[in-house]
Amino acid sequence: MSAPGLVGLVVVSHSRALARAAVALAQEMVHGRQVKIAIAAGLDDTTFGTDATQIVEAITVAEQGAGVVVLMDLGSAVLSAELALDLLDDELRAGVVLCPAPLVEGLVVAAVAAAGGASADEVVAEATGALAGKIGHLHPVSASEALIDAPAGTDELTGSFLVENPHGLHARPAARLVQEARKRDARAFIRNRSTNSEWVGAGSLSKIATLGVRSGHEVEVRVAGSQAAETLDHILALAARHFDEPLTQTPEVTARVTPPQAPVGASPGLGIGPARSARLQPITIPDTPAEDPTTEWRRVSKAIAVVRRTISELRTRTAREVGEVEAAIFDAHQLFLDDTELLDAVHARIDGGESAVAAWSAAVTALAAEFAALPDPYLKARAEDVTAVGDQVLRAMLGSVASSANATGVLIAADLTPAEAAELPRDQVAAVVLAFGSPHAHNVILLRAKGIPAVVGAGPAVLSIAEGTVVAVDGTSGEFVIDPPEDVRRQFGDRVAALTLRKNAARARATEPAITTDGITVRVGANLGSVDDARAAVAAGADYAGLIRTEFLFLGRPEAPDVEEQTAVYRKIAESMDGRRITLRTLDIGGDKPLDFLPTPAEMNPFLGVRGIRLSLHHPQLLSDQLLAMARVAHQTPVSVMFPMVSTLDELFAARRLLDEALAATGSQRPPDLEVGMMVEVPAAALKAAAFAPHVDFFSIGTNDLTQYALAADRNNDAVATIGDTFDPGLLALIRSTCRGAGDRVSVSVCGEFAADERAAGLLIGLGVDALSVSPPAIATTKDAVRALDSREAAGAATAALAADSAAAVRDQLTPTPRG
Ligand code: PEP
Ligand code: MG
Repeated sequence: MSAPGLVGLVVVSHSRALARAAVALAQEMVHGRQVKIAIAAGLDDTTFGTDATQIVEAITVAEQGAGVVVLMDLGSAVLSAELALDLLDDELRAGVVLCPAPLVEGLVVAAVAAAGGASADEVVAEATGALAGKIGHLHPVSASEALIDAPAGTDELTGSFLVENPHGLHARPAARLVQEARKRDARAFIRNRSTNSEWVGAGSLSKIATLGVRSGHEVEVRVAGSQAAETLDHILALAARHFDEPLTQTPEVTARVTPPQAPVGASPGLGIGPARSARLQPITIPDTPAEDPTTEWRRVSKAIAVVRRTISELRTRTAREVGEVEAAIFDAHQLFLDDTELLDAVHARIDGGESAVAAWSAAVTALAAEFAALPDPYLKARAEDVTAVGDQVLRAMLGSVASSANATGVLIAADLTPAEAAELPRDQVAAVVLAFGSPHAHNVILLRAKGIPAVVGAGPAVLSIAEGTVVAVDGTSGEFVIDPPEDVRRQFGDRVAALTLRKNAARARATEPAITTDGITVRVGANLGSVDDARAAVAAGADYAGLIRTEFLFLGRPEAPDVEEQTAVYRKIAESMDGRRITLRTLDIGGDKPLDFLPTPAEMNPFLGVRGIRLSLHHPQLLSDQLLAMARVAHQTPVSVMFPMVSTLDELFAARRLLDEALAATGSQRPPDLEVGMMVEVPAAALKAAAFAPHVDFFSIGTNDLTQYALAADRNNDAVATIGDTFDPGLLALIRSTCRGAGDRVSVSVCGEFAADERAAGLLIGLGVDALSVSPPAIATTKDAVRALDSREAAGAATAALAADSAAAVRDQLTPTPRG
């Protein structure tokens, strides 16, 4: 416990491990009274970086009523701490001091001083002198001269280097140079000797870019300050290493190499149109009058902090999934946020009475124009980076998400949230290409539900596709062509026309039953998540509702809907389905779907934790209410009650007992058309199907979850998206086991996304599945796929697929999908 009334300390470091170790060392030195030391270090346990919002939180934690002293490590740690100060309330900020002391020595001394009851200013003074002992011991004369006596300018050091990078000092090498120049206590300036340019600060990315340093140019360096020598050495060494960029691989080539993880077709169909980047939708600058400069500047600082965090996350993700070289482009984006030239310009405008938004927008536009005017085409193109980062900050200030709702064409984005996916208008978005993402994630399920073709895992290079460039997307195969030549466009156009014809023909027959060529009827149902979906399902030809995700009624609400409300909604769905059977799945919460009104403890592995039926059984009243509403509706219309994520017989028995109680409460007669079943999503349940079968009327295989559990591949983690492949023969064996265990009495349907894959229909029927439930737009084509099948041939193909050794081999065995 820390004592109240003592000065608190905050450690800002690029490395969380370093900060923790430094704090442990400092705590060793203070005996008895413990000082509150909070850490704001690293972007996570292993990623280096600093973040102003984390620093704000740490300062708030460390404040004990006597002020806070902040100790920082290198370069941007200082900038982030300054930014954090801007974000603090005036009252809190008044007691915070940024301490120039070296981190480790300073922290130890500061902790001792603070524990002794020193004031914040005394702690800072003590800590700042912390190096004196070491300096006196090692270099009594020269070191003190360097630190104290050397007047600015007199100890200036100079050097030069030749740039051999193919694109000169473009964004990435320049970003490395800026990082190096800012690391120490020194001021570095450079100029392009080959063009006889002006000197500019080496700590400003935008200024370096204006030098137009091309391959073969010579650059002069001037460095002053106490750490001038180290800084110059490091800059020259970095230049000798070509700024850590491979000389044989040009940035343009890098931007276009296929990421190691191939793009995945995630929502079938074809789309062609101009690229529309979510980040480049036009922003309207509101004409609101400026408040006082401090408030306006704080607005900018806050937005920069938010964007910095977003870019850091994107960088980490890119480094992990694609590689360091590609990830480094985000370093340049980060540096624009620190760019002193840019920030000074914004400051000056705000001081001159402009609002934060207007000042930022004008300064960014001016900087982008400087880049655009440069003769070098590569540097010219950096104007787009400046605008992109500038827009991000503007959006953060305006509180508007990078909405793509009014995009027409092919939407290009890093990823989409489910909310953003839900907003996309089908008639305007020809296709979606995501740099990241997984085909099993809920955002992609929504795209499929809307019938928008999508490719995910396309790699971050797609984020550089210029606005308006034509992109042709095949959401079935995962292929996409940027700026296709005329003949490819023509072929693609022909395929789109053929697909439209085929879809129209399928739609014309959508309400007819799906019967195989040898006379087996396969029911094709709809997966629903709202009353509106139910109407769409009937219009699309659904034979029944195979999966109603009742979560839609519960998510994002401060309290659970009561029995009356649930009954009314389920009844409305039944009415919209015109008397067709409705399969009501009980709440499937947990994993990636939290409930606002039911805070659940944090779990290390939420998908393996209290989820689905487990959570409902932990909250029996919640489940009983839901079952009561379902039981009421079951007296009026054919209802199937379905339990999600069942793993054991005991769970099924417990859930059935609550259902029996609900039925008893709604009448003495059991509703004649009531069926009770369970989802098969857990591999063990698939293998134990024969044990479950006597206790259910149907199984519904949830291939989305069954895939993630069987292949140990998180459905929301794009890094393992290609492993979580439902065509894997191991998955097919689980489906076969379910069908065998079901026997003749229990029906088996598939309601996971796999059911809507036209290539899968034959496999599933061949394995013994009786019914398929898909999103409404997929009903017509799924029925058509069934109509093209002979069930005996399908059984033969399924047996062959079970013997294959990989998902790819299974796909190869299947008759090719009718193209496009
Ligand atoms: C499934 O897991 O396949 C399924 C249909 O359930 P959900 O996607 O809602 O988890
Ligand atoms: Mg599921």
